[in-house]
Amino acid sequence: MATTSKTWAMLHAKCPRCRRGDMFSGRIYSLTSNRINIDCPRCGMHFEIEPGYFYAAMYVSYALNVGTSFTIAMLTYIITGNTTSPWLYTGVIIGGCFLLAPIIFRTSRVLLLYWLSPKIHYQPYLDVDDTTANT
Ligand SMILES: [Zn+2]
Repeated sequence: MATTSKTWAMLHAKCPRCRRGDMFSGRIYSLTSNRINIDCPRCGMHFEIEPGYFYAAMYVSYALNVGTSFTIAMLTYIITGNTTSPWLYTGVIIGGCFLLAPIIFRTSRVLLLYWLSPKIHYQPYLDVDDTTANT
């Protein structure tokens, strides 16, 4: 029985318990349908394990945005060499964070559930193909 690797499951935003069900519905760059599922479609795990649990994802999101802003600022400096215009950096950082917001939205929730939620454990017996689960 092959198990799904944690890295693959995190990159594909799969359920932290079964590593099979999708955490999010809809496409990542969709204005209307990019949202987290209430329950895992495979194992039924309730993703918001406590009421208001995803408020904690805001802190993760904040940290990711700080890192992203710093990276964008460094890239802007390396590419343009500009040291005089704060508006260049302000515009590029705000634009970059706006474009990356859907990715940061998903990444913050994935990191929260995988790294910062000690109550959630991977259950290998749920990480099986549909065909083998019924035999
Ligand atoms: Zn699951």
